Amino acid sequence: MSAGDTAPDLLFSAEQIRHRVRDIAAAIENDAPPEMTLHLIGVLTGGFVFLADLVRALSRPATIDFARCSSYGNRTVSSGSVAWSLVPRDVRGRYVVVVDDIVDSGTTLLGIRTRLEGQHPARLRAACLLDKPSRRRCHVPVEFVGFSIEDIFVVGYGLDHAEQYRHLPYIARLDQRPLTTANSPAGATKPRR
Ligand code: 5GP
Ligand code: MG
Repeated sequence: MSAGDTAPDLLFSAEQIRHRVRDIAAAIENDAPPEMTLHLIGVLTGGFVFLADLVRALSRPATIDFARCSSYGNRTVSSGSVAWSLVPRDVRGRYVVVVDDIVDSGTTLLGIRTRLEGQHPARLRAACLLDKPSRRRCHVPVEFVGFSIEDIFVVGYGLDHAEQYRHLPYIARLDQRPLTTANSPAGATKPRR
């Protein structure tokens, strides 16, 4: 399926997202002890837009880092089920917020949290703009959630399909029209997760 085969439908407008990002920033500031610097770790690639907006919605200084990893897909879900391609700096003693676009099975976030917990941060939190609770395959805490959604595939505001749509200022549902064998490359009928 190429991005041109699909038509995104608006789910959350830029205005709705702006409000939720402000709410999450306020909740983080409320939770973090006043003497602690906030340390945000953006999960690449999808988390980059949310991270950029969240850090600018905070009224306190924050330091920034990035992580990049991918889950092993359908294998048994465990805390070690992610492959790392960018490991964040040590978080010992810090107030840390992992900032990601969406929690689906939870495997990626669980892998990140497990690694960071091993470094003994003062507090470890996760902020995810979107959450699909019905898809969860493991128990993983998400302290700050923007919107809970059903099991639908969404794009925009950092989220892609085949590297398209990340630039959209809103979040849209991607119409998953079944493709015919004539126009569908083998194995490409479902968006990549
Ligand atoms: P998890 O490890 O929680 O199953 O996967 C999380 C990752 O899967 C997200 O960071 C994102 O990259 C991808 N993902 C899950 N659901 C969606 C979706 O609806 N749209 C897009 N674009 N990516 C998704
Ligand atoms: Mg992600």
